[in-house]
Amino acid sequence: MKLRFSIGAIPLSLLAALFFVVTGNQQFWSQSFGFFSPLNSQNLLMLFSLFSVTLSLMFFLLSLIAIPYLFRPVLTLVLLGNASAAYFMNGYGILIDRDMLQNVFETNPAEALELINLKLICYLLLLGVLPSLLLWRTQIRYGQWRSLLGRKLGVMALALAVIAANAWLFYQDYASFFRNKGEVRRLFTPANFIYGTGDYIHHHWFLKPTKLEPVGLDAKRVGAPPQNKPTLMVIVVGETARAANFGLDGYARQTTPQLAKLDVINYPQATSCGTSTAISVPCMFSPMARQEYKSSQHKESLLDVVQRVGIPVLWKDNNSGCKGACDRVQYEDLSQQTDPRWCRDGECFDEIMLEGLGQQLTNHKGDLLLVLHQKGSHGPAYYQRYPQEFAKFAPVCQTNKLQECSQEAIANAYDNTILYTDHFLARVIDQLKRQQSHYNTAMWYMSDHGESLGENNLYLHGAPYAFAPETQTHIPMVQWISDGFAARSKLDLNCLRQRAQQPTSHDNLFHSVLGILDIQTSVYQPDLDLFKSCRKNP
Ligand SMILES: [Zn+2]
Repeated sequence: MKLRFSIGAIPLSLLAALFFVVTGNQQFWSQSFGFFSPLNSQNLLMLFSLFSVTLSLMFFLLSLIAIPYLFRPVLTLVLLGNASAAYFMNGYGILIDRDMLQNVFETNPAEALELINLKLICYLLLLGVLPSLLLWRTQIRYGQWRSLLGRKLGVMALALAVIAANAWLFYQDYASFFRNKGEVRRLFTPANFIYGTGDYIHHHWFLKPTKLEPVGLDAKRVGAPPQNKPTLMVIVVGETARAANFGLDGYARQTTPQLAKLDVINYPQATSCGTSTAISVPCMFSPMARQEYKSSQHKESLLDVVQRVGIPVLWKDNNSGCKGACDRVQYEDLSQQTDPRWCRDGECFDEIMLEGLGQQLTNHKGDLLLVLHQKGSHGPAYYQRYPQEFAKFAPVCQTNKLQECSQEAIANAYDNTILYTDHFLARVIDQLKRQQSHYNTAMWYMSDHGESLGENNLYLHGAPYAFAPETQTHIPMVQWISDGFAARSKLDLNCLRQRAQQPTSHDNLFHSVLGILDIQTSVYQPDLDLFKSCRKNP
């Protein structure tokens, strides 16, 4: 290929820095303009300062990689990453940090494919592929390495001086800006995903513990036998259901008609551990509370302790895996089934997890803790999450480009997913009722996190917990407990109904399940056990 253009390494760094600062950063600049308004001379000065600081920062970073053989390939990667980041920030109001990148790195092809659309491809072509092609047709002049090094150190020092001078001159304004708009750091691309990727690698590779810390080695079952029947407890891990659209939690629409007719215990004030699956799912089973939670690699979980005392655990999954929460227990992936009744286009409705379950439970001997991990309300293609008979609310948003649908059409599609979860949970309860001659049965459902449906131009989930809107952290939580299970546990259900009105969270799961299954261990914290105060002489 004949190279058509030619440019020095330092001017190219400056040009690329300018390209990044002005393209792909609409969200960053609109937030900044919003903060520094009205446009009087002081605010204009601040915006100019912000522009010179961001430009200097990008120029400094690009100068670091502006060396032969490295510059072109790395810049190409940054261009492509920048284009995708710009699309997701502009389209869904997403902030980019370590946790968001964890979702990206730990997703599966089906989930990733669901996000691809024409608009994303346009972003990639215009901001990523096209400038990359230009870059590869351009000869980069580095010159003599000695003189390049000298000039480069000079301009890099200049860039740092610009940043330092601005920080010194406008210290108060910057302090107030970052205090009030701390999230803008996560909006400035490509710095956000470069930093986030480094942070992710540091966190997941270098801070990864060498050894999994055992939990509850002293665990033993107390006081339970002799029992008339074994215990069957089902934990349903929901996906992306938010309390705001859950009928039982007071939503104006009845999205949970079947649960409303069943004798369930509803927890209207439940909150999640994280705002993404990768954090919330392992966290809810972890002995670590939300504030201290690190990862599933640090400590064993509830499932390890339960298994240790001789209660088998089975995890059935219709999501993109259990994110480390089901390591070391029996696992069935049902998301890739081909049963035409529940599955199409490489994914299945949640009822696939109930296929053959009745027989499986009848054949099983002894106690069992069963986890069902739903696909639930996973976006953005809400309309693909439920069978046709649950398309009750219409018209629905039929695209993954949520920003092109009306709020109403998005809510309609989303509410239909909740209707389907309501049906799924009612079917789980029905299955448990049928098993009552074999087992004492109970079900505990909770969503992993909530969702944004376009409020304040924010979509999907995964916002940093500190900034996350309540819709992403306030989750539905519901229990159904059979009379046999309540009698066996000496559990007063009316008392529990009262208790359920108080605030609860994912932190309660670990200790409540240990308590209700009569597992005694030093890691058990009675104050986090939701059932404890409602049991007679447990
Ligand atoms: Zn999730």
